[in-house]
Amino acid sequence: MNILVLNCGSSSVKFQLIATDLEQIVNNSDRRLARGNIERIGGEAIITLEAAGKDPVRSTAALRDTQAAVEFIIRWACSPESGVAELESIADIHAVGHRVVHGGERFTHSVLITDEVLRGIEDCIDLAPLHNPTNIKGILAAREVFGSGLPAVAVFDTAFHQTLPEHAYLYALPYQLYRRHRIRRYGFHGTSHRYVAYRYRQLRGIARAETNVITLHLGNGCSIAAISAGDSVDTSMGLTPLEGLVMGTRSGDIDPAIVDFVAAKEGLSSQQVETLLNKQSGLLGISGLTNDMRELLAEASENNDRRARLAIEIFCYRARKYIGAFLAAVGGADAILFTGGIGENSAEIRAKICAGLKWMGVKLDDERNAAHCNGCEGLITSDTSAVAAYVIPTDEELLIARDTVRCVTGAPQRY
Ligand code: ADP
Repeated sequence: MNILVLNCGSSSVKFQLIATDLEQIVNNSDRRLARGNIERIGGEAIITLEAAGKDPVRSTAALRDTQAAVEFIIRWACSPESGVAELESIADIHAVGHRVVHGGERFTHSVLITDEVLRGIEDCIDLAPLHNPTNIKGILAAREVFGSGLPAVAVFDTAFHQTLPEHAYLYALPYQLYRRHRIRRYGFHGTSHRYVAYRYRQLRGIARAETNVITLHLGNGCSIAAISAGDSVDTSMGLTPLEGLVMGTRSGDIDPAIVDFVAAKEGLSSQQVETLLNKQSGLLGISGLTNDMRELLAEASENNDRRARLAIEIFCYRARKYIGAFLAAVGGADAILFTGGIGENSAEIRAKICAGLKWMGVKLDDERNAAHCNGCEGLITSDTSAVAAYVIPTDEELLIARDTVRCVTGAPQRY
């Protein structure tokens, strides 16, 4: 089956076209046919398209909305100019997989999209007011382009964490707030945590029930998950993606009393403080320079910039603290898995995070660590390390395509 994977933002669409089926999933032989990115939809959009094995092609075009962007992608993919031999017409696309940010408590796994499912995603808008509406727009746009006969599947960022036990997902707030408004920890990046945990057990040749790991997704957004017997049992992001680790522009954990304090001192509304915590904090806020870890590392080493060093230090310290907490939460784990732009590419950050973990048996192998960058997957600890560490490049789109196949064919999703 040829699956179109769509990740629709407010003015952007990221896509991949992946050929996969149940047999290819088992053999890990799925094929990526094309990928791309359309930004600044609504005006002169910036378009990047890349067929497998070819160089990316950049262009611009006036695209008024998400539907126009999806139409543009299909037209390109099915044209001889793209060079995607598998696609000659729109009929060669067999299903669409949509990334949906919030599935609330209702969606515990990926589902075929029906009108009832759409209403369910709408019901979660309260919980993700910025993301769910744009995801719904994407679903409706694809329906317009393909017709409602083409199967479409929703894959939720929150679904993997629905196995969290009550003691991990409830905040110590008046219980009626949970009952009335469903205020609880949901967690995000679920597709990424699930994928790397799955790859780990493939690499080790172990069963789902034997998978006890801590997964760190360190990108622009950062989160960590504790996985016990294959299930997520705790995670650092909460009701929203603001909680937990230090991120590119998000503060992660803070004393909640800071919100009112800053509002009063700076004359801001609580909404403005929330924006400050989401967009002006984290690595950017501490360094005063950038949210980009690569640039911070360069500033720190080339110019010995104090605040760049501080931002890196706080980032790594928080990650280390969470690893310790989650190891305690699950009663020990066999491995720590690094993923995301920073986790996959920066041997320096991985070394700084693991530096304080020797006491609990994490012995990084410097050569292995340095060798695992740029998409390279594998072990980075020494053979005598009691707790192993791995770099596992994430592939959320692949998992969305695979879930789409499973939903369309009725195959089980726990595997
Ligand atoms: P997103 O969360 O937006 O998907 P990514 O997972 O691509 O983001 O991660 C982006 C982060 O990864 C940026 O801070 C970027 O600087 C960092 N990054 C990418 N490559 C490297 C590298 N070689 N060294 C350090 N950081 C890197």
